Amino acid sequence: MKFADLHLHTQFSDGTFTPEELVLHAQKQGLACIALTDHDTVEGCARAATACAAVQMEFIPGAELTAEHADTEVHILGYFLDTQNSVLLEKIARFQAVRQNRIREMVAALNQLGIPLQAGAVFALANCKSPGRPHVARALVKEKFIANIDEAFERYLKKGRPAWVPKTKMSALEGVGLIHQAGGLAIMAHPGLNRTDAIIPDLVDAGLDGIECFHTKHSTVMSERYLEIAEKHHLLVTGGSDCHGFSKKTPLIGTVRVPYAYVEKLKAKVAERKL
Ligand SMILES: [Zn+2]
Ligand SMILES: [Zn+2]
Repeated sequence: MKFADLHLHTQFSDGTFTPEELVLHAQKQGLACIALTDHDTVEGCARAATACAAVQMEFIPGAELTAEHADTEVHILGYFLDTQNSVLLEKIARFQAVRQNRIREMVAALNQLGIPLQAGAVFALANCKSPGRPHVARALVKEKFIANIDEAFERYLKKGRPAWVPKTKMSALEGVGLIHQAGGLAIMAHPGLNRTDAIIPDLVDAGLDGIECFHTKHSTVMSERYLEIAEKHHLLVTGGSDCHGFSKKTPLIGTVRVPYAYVEKLKAKVAERKL
């Protein structure tokens, strides 16, 4: 039986693997297909595609967009994206600028708290265009301002903590439209994590193609519940580990995997769109 892990991050956002390392780990896990879904970027896709081709692994170019709807943060996965699509690249650049400004604001808040972290240190560590809170946390640990990443979130960076800064996000409807115009499928990521159930019908109306039913942080009960919701709305089903490399003690890649039949359904939908 063939399996796929459809939710993976690299150094092009907040993962620790290079695209090549990611593919190596995918190979070790015996995966037949992977999708790269870095936050607000498709930059790692070309290298991941090349690395996959070298080992005859199927590759799906993707991204994970941070969006919101009705005051709810929602992550939208785009699959089979045209990574050269100019509208997509332009919007992505704008949201990367938002991310970079947010880093500066978080660092300023930390400075106010008497922690002399510098934004430059975070950017140097992140070394990508889509920096995020995990990079601030890692910089705090690296500079020995705090013992570990969990504590950095707990004390400073979590929502409601003193260095938390709200993020300007695109609307979910805009996100779905953006993915579609770049030839991709729009899938709601980890609904169990963001508690986005209430907004599913609105997104379905906007053309949402599917739900990520299987995810590292979904319990079996949750997965079953989302499978039911997907069936009810005639949505596609996806799943993945949301691996960020060694930002967790052991890489999660392959720990959540879906049978290849789910990938075939995604491909059928993309092909149907192109007709
Ligand atoms: Zn996410
Ligand atoms: Zn993710």
